[in-house]
Amino acid sequence: MAMPDYKNYDDNNIFAMILRGDIPNKTVYEDDHALAFHDINPQAPVHVLVIPKGKYISMADFTANASADEIAGFWRAVGKTTEALGLVEPGYRLLANHGPHSHQEVPHLHVHILAGKFVGPMLMRDWEGKIDMPNMD
Ligand code: 5GP
Repeated sequence: MAMPDYKNYDDNNIFAMILRGDIPNKTVYEDDHALAFHDINPQAPVHVLVIPKGKYISMADFTANASADEIAGFWRAVGKTTEALGLVEPGYRLLANHGPHSHQEVPHLHVHILAGKFVGPMLMRDWEGKIDMPNMD
C-alpha cells in the first residue's frame, strides 16, 4: 500500500468522507470538535477511532497547526468517548500513528481506543528487525 502524503491533506481520504456523511459509520460520540466511531476491522473487543473535525493529516500536523481550542476540544472528546464506552474503570489504551515507521494508513488524524480485555504488551518486542516488516511501497 502506498504511504499517505504527509504534506497535502487529501479531501477524499476515507475519514473525510465519513465526516461529510458520504459513507456511514457507527458513531459512539460526537461534538463540535470530534467524531468517535467503531473501527471497521477491530483489533480488540472495543476498537474505536476518534478524529478531529478539522483537516489534519496526522498528529504532527495537528500539534503544529491546530488552535489551542481545537487541541483541547479534541482531547476532551477522547475522554468523553472513553466515558461513553464505560472504559474509565477497566482501562484502555490510546494509540496514534504518524509517518512511515508507524504504518499510518488513513491520512486524517485518528486516535485508536483499544480496550475490552487485557490488550497485551505495549509494542511488538522485535524492534531489532528479526520479524519481516510489511512492504511499505
Ligand atoms: P492507521 O493504520 O491509519 O492508524 O489506522 C486506520 C484504521 O482505520 C484501521 O484500524 C482501519 O481498520 C480503519 N478503517 C479504515 N477504513 C475504515 C472505514 O471505512 N470505516 C471505519 N470505521 N474504519 C476504517
